[in-house]
Amino acid sequence: MENKLVSVVIPAHNEEDNIIVIIKRIEKVFSELHYNYEILLVDDGCTDNTLSIIKDLSSRDPRLFYVEFSRNFGHQPALKAGLDLSHGDCVISLDADLQHPPELFKQMLEKWEEGYEVVYTRRKEDKNLSFKKRKSSQYFYKLLNSLSDIELESGTADFRLLDRVAVEAFRNFNEADPFIRGLVKLLGFKQFAIDYVPDKRFSGASKYSISKMRRLAIQGVTSLSIKPLHTAVYLGFTFSMISLLYLPYVFYAFYKGQEVNGWASLIMTISFFGGLQLVILGIIGIYVGKMFIQTKNRPNYIIRSTNLKNI
Ligand code: UDP
Ligand code: MG
Repeated sequence: MENKLVSVVIPAHNEEDNIIVIIKRIEKVFSELHYNYEILLVDDGCTDNTLSIIKDLSSRDPRLFYVEFSRNFGHQPALKAGLDLSHGDCVISLDADLQHPPELFKQMLEKWEEGYEVVYTRRKEDKNLSFKKRKSSQYFYKLLNSLSDIELESGTADFRLLDRVAVEAFRNFNEADPFIRGLVKLLGFKQFAIDYVPDKRFSGASKYSISKMRRLAIQGVTSLSIKPLHTAVYLGFTFSMISLLYLPYVFYAFYKGQEVNGWASLIMTISFFGGLQLVILGIIGIYVGKMFIQTKNRPNYIIRSTNLKNI
């Protein structure tokens, strides 16, 4: 029987020092397994030598493929491209910086063979991660879970295996701003989690700044649920009820002829509710903005070049 094909998808943004090492490690892992494999590196607008390195390697190894974007589109679109364009019986995605150990493939593939269509990984709390990264990541999952309708376990990053059926189902999600780990939860199928301890970033610095993390969190919440809009309604309702309590005092002051008093409380109330309304308008604005972007139906990414044959 023909061996099954495993596609490995690696999104990369300026990872020139990591490429050779990660490909070596993946090759070593597969040398001990009975699978055919292909590696698809998605060059997400790299400005360093990442692309020339992968081009050079792929000219000598027919299992190596690359897709070059026309500019930096972001990690999630790069992953989506990998899932769209690979054609293995299953697809494993991992980061280029070796924080996701390829040695875990063996265990993931065993679970896949047992019949799980989605094998995802959970990063365990680890000293290797900087304090800033740990805290921002905790905050990220807390915010996401409290404001959206699905429960994402802490540390479930984009290191996972998807069976072909799950990949095909995923491709039906036609979102302008995909938040892949949330969408994978929505997919359903038989899912299995593997815990692992991440390594240190092999070389270079994280491409996720705090502001990018914040953006990802807002993107995650707003693409998975409209709960913040409900919260806005409850908040508005609660505060208008509270403000009714003020009414007896107004009558009392009027009766006493003190109606010009209370300037301080008036200005406080106006500024407080002004702020609250702006926040709520902002929340609504984010959703309206999402609809605006979605109606344009722009592509998630644009490909400049590739050595894939079927494009
Ligand atoms: N990445 C990408 N496009 C971006 C930012 C990041 O393709 O705009 C890739 C990056 O090269 C890496 C993965 O996404 O392979 C995760 O990024 P990083 O390691 O910087 O994030 P962190 O591990 O710090 O969350
Ligand atoms: Mg990383």
